[in-house]
This record gives sequence, C-alpha cells and structure tokens, in this order.
Amino acid sequence: MKLLSVIVPCYNEEENVRDFYDELLRNASFFQEKETEIEIIYVDDGSKDKTVAEVKRLHEEDARVHLLSFSRNFGKEAAIYAGLQRAKGDMVVMMDADLQDPPSLLPEMYSYIEQGYDSVATRRVTRKGEPPVRSFFARMFYRIMNKISRTEIVDGARDYRLMTRQVVDAILAMTEYNRFTKGIFGWVGYETKWLEYENVERKKGETKWSFWKLFVYSLEGITAFSTVPLTMAAVLGALFCVLAFGMIIVTIVRTLIYGDPTSGWPSLVCIILLVSGVQLFCLGIVGQYLSKTYMEVKKRPIYLVKEDI
Ligand code: UDP
Ligand code: MG
Repeated sequence: MKLLSVIVPCYNEEENVRDFYDELLRNASFFQEKETEIEIIYVDDGSKDKTVAEVKRLHEEDARVHLLSFSRNFGKEAAIYAGLQRAKGDMVVMMDADLQDPPSLLPEMYSYIEQGYDSVATRRVTRKGEPPVRSFFARMFYRIMNKISRTEIVDGARDYRLMTRQVVDAILAMTEYNRFTKGIFGWVGYETKWLEYENVERKKGETKWSFWKLFVYSLEGITAFSTVPLTMAAVLGALFCVLAFGMIIVTIVRTLIYGDPTSGWPSLVCIILLVSGVQLFCLGIVGQYLSKTYMEVKKRPIYLVKEDI
C-alpha cells in the first residue's frame, strides 16, 4: 500500500473543514483502486473560530484525519511547511480548505505522477470573481518578477500541487524563514506537469488576503528570489553621480565666464527634492534586504505547534 498525504492549511475555516472532507472522500474511491491510502492533515494556522474543534470531531470519526495546530497565526507559508514536515506519504498534495482547489482533479494529477512526472502543479487560467484592480496588479507582479528573477514563477499558479517524496524532501531542505512558496517550488525544479483549470470561487467564508497583505507578500517574493532591485539602486546612484559631475563642471565654467548669478533656486529645489527622493528609495530597497537578512540570521522557528493529534 502507498500513502498519499493531503495537507490542508486552515485559518478561520470552521465552515469549510467538513465540506472539504466530504468532497475529498467523494473522489477517494479512485485511490482505493490504486491501492493508495490517504491521510488528511489539517494545519490550523492559529484560527480564532471553531476550526480546531471541527477537525477534532472529524478525527474522532475517522482516524485518517490529523490535526496540527499552531500557537498563533504564522501564515499560510508556515502552515504548508509544517504540513510537509508532518506528512508521511509517498506522495503529498496541498489543498486549500475553501474548495478552490477541486479534488476532482486528483485522479488526473495522479496519472501524471504514474507517467513519471515528479510533481503536478495547477494554474488557473481565469481570474473570474476577482476584483479587476487585483487581477491587474497580480499580472503586473508576475511580469516584473519573471524579468528580474531567474527562478520561474508562473502567473496564476496555485499552491495546489501533487508531489513525490523526493520533491517534498527537497522543499523541506529549504529552511529559510521568509518562505515564498511559489518561488521555492520553481527553485527546486524537477519535472513538473502543469494542469490548467478555470477559477473556482470560494465556497464559504471570506478570503484571508487583503490587497495590502498581497502587496507585502509580493515584496516578499521579489526580495526572496531576486537581487535585481539592489543592482538597480546602484546603477541609479552611479547615473546620478555622472549627472552631478557634469553639472559641477557646467556650473564652474559658467561662473568663471558670467560671474555668480543669484537666480536659479527653483531648479535647485527641484534637483534636491528629486535626488533626495531617489536616495531614500534606494535606502528603502537596501533596508528591505537588510530586514530579511536580519530575520534569517535570527534563525527563529518557522512555526510553533500547540497540538498534534
Ligand atoms: N490560510 C492560512 N493562513 C493564513 C491565511 C490563509 O492557513 O494566514 C489558508 C486558508 O485557510 C485557505 C488557504 O490558506 O485554506 C487560502 O486562503 P484564501 O482562500 O483566503 O486565499 P485566496 O484563495 O483568496 O487566495
Ligand atoms: Mg481561497
């Protein structure tokens, strides 16, 4: 018998815990045919509602259901990492609790693993039901990201992935604190099959990602998988130095020929404003990397477990 681990990160998903379980088992007969057992690991990311109680109730009914709960909200990336560490399966799949990752795709995903792929990833081709502004910024993020990073990050990629043990171990070996999962998957490589599907809207509850949270997450992605902004800051600084040098010569020559005119302070103010703005911006970029390095150096645990059932 083989074992498939299903990892479900949950943050305030009390309404979805049982629905997810039912929907998953509806597609589980396929795995029986394939002589594959399932274990379901709900990772409770410090929920403030009754998610933990719901999972415990499921666990009493079905011993294949496991619970790993955190001491507080550590974020989805940490929940995925914890789930991967806890999973014992020969294969592991990660799925959202809100049923936006349809379990009906599992048999097809499984068939590709049988064909010899190391990992089967999914991407949604539409962004139906999403605010247009959000879609616009998301598209822009992926375009910029793929220009400035050597790691491939696919637009619309979801965290819904089926992986072999080998890939899981590779991901577990990346113990960094700032975990940008989409980048980590791209970074480890291996042969990946991409499946496409239409966006499914969340069944119940609300999305945990505000625009601001997504914006901060995108910065995380950029600083974790690209150092191009640092180079850009340096190039910009050099450019301004050259410009300043030219200006100095022009000013000296002009003063020698025409004397010292007192006019010209508006242009001076403009230059000071622009240059100091650019300086602050570049300092901000450096600060971003410094803060990430700071967090890595501290070597804090990625998550803290409260209960493991
Ligand atoms: N999630 C989590 N921790 C968080 C935020 C979200 O574990 O801090 C889980 C959430 O419960 C869900 C999945 O991550 O199972 C995806 O979250 P959501 O559906 O809110 O994101 P969206 O689908 O809107 O991008
Ligand atoms: Mg969702």
